[in-house]
Amino acid sequence: MIERVYLAKPRGFCAGVVMAINAVERAAEELKDQGDLVVYHSIVHNDVVVARLRERYGVHIVEDLSEIAELEKKYKLARTIVFSAHGIPPSVREEVRRMGWGYIDATCPLVTKVHSEARYYAARGYTVLLIGDSADHQEVRGTLGEAPESTILVAVHTHVGSDPRLADPRTVEVPDPERVAVFTQTTLSVDDTDRTIEILKKRFPKLVQPSRSDLCYATKNRQDQVKLIAPHVDLFLVLTSSYSSNGMRLFEIASGLTRARRIDTAADLRREWFDGVRNVGITSAASTPEDLVQQVLVYLREINPRLEVIEEGEWEKIRFREPRRVPPLNDGDE
Ligand code: SF4
Repeated sequence: MIERVYLAKPRGFCAGVVMAINAVERAAEELKDQGDLVVYHSIVHNDVVVARLRERYGVHIVEDLSEIAELEKKYKLARTIVFSAHGIPPSVREEVRRMGWGYIDATCPLVTKVHSEARYYAARGYTVLLIGDSADHQEVRGTLGEAPESTILVAVHTHVGSDPRLADPRTVEVPDPERVAVFTQTTLSVDDTDRTIEILKKRFPKLVQPSRSDLCYATKNRQDQVKLIAPHVDLFLVLTSSYSSNGMRLFEIASGLTRARRIDTAADLRREWFDGVRNVGITSAASTPEDLVQQVLVYLREINPRLEVIEEGEWEKIRFREPRRVPPLNDGDE
């Protein structure tokens, strides 16, 4: 029977996610008289968060600006769009302004930092190698959009081939091996990314790296906790949507160290998973709401009401300022 739960701390929402969700909630309230709010791409990669925002505030999520014309036929819209925490290519912002719409840029500042770095080195004639987990990931699309002519997408060395649009770090070719810079998606595996950069560094000894890793503090802290807890548990539960990059990396790391299950919510749990299990680890992605973790604890306490919960570690104190709202252009504005 389950005796003990090791609850990872920190877990769940990072500062970027909190900032982005607050920005949507506040704008939806403030603009409700003008119409519904539109969000470009899932504001954060969690189905429960997105469903709640749709239900409570009537926000519409679009993956392409061309979808707005159809929405306008059915709904009154506030002519303001929120860019998700993952960032956007500059072309999207330009198109929004051409449409005369306003926007709120909820891109995480740690993603914006990577955009600036990519722009800086591309403008100086460097080839930018961008390590990511998929060419379709919104963050990768956003950073790539800063300097598409100068950027080559590169796979993490453990995931070569999972997306054929990403080059193998062992064989990627660049026009000038003396002028190469490397940047990364913020949510990759710390260890696998370090190793991938080592491979690139051997091939391009003058490789320029960011002064501080692009992998964000929330990614590192959540992965560190999984590595600390995994040796103590027979089963690790990772609460994440399957398309959350940081959440899936937590699941991969936990799976490499012990038996692990990915769940969206407590409704996915199966009683037989806990047969012969005494110690359970729990963590959650940077976009998973805490109440979903608490529901898992309720489920486990039904199995053993005297369950011991061990929760060591520190909560993060980082906060990001809410982004400002850029209003729509009036008719006649430039
Ligand atoms: Fe920002 Fe990191 Fe959170 Fe992504 S996971 S929103 S980069 S703090």
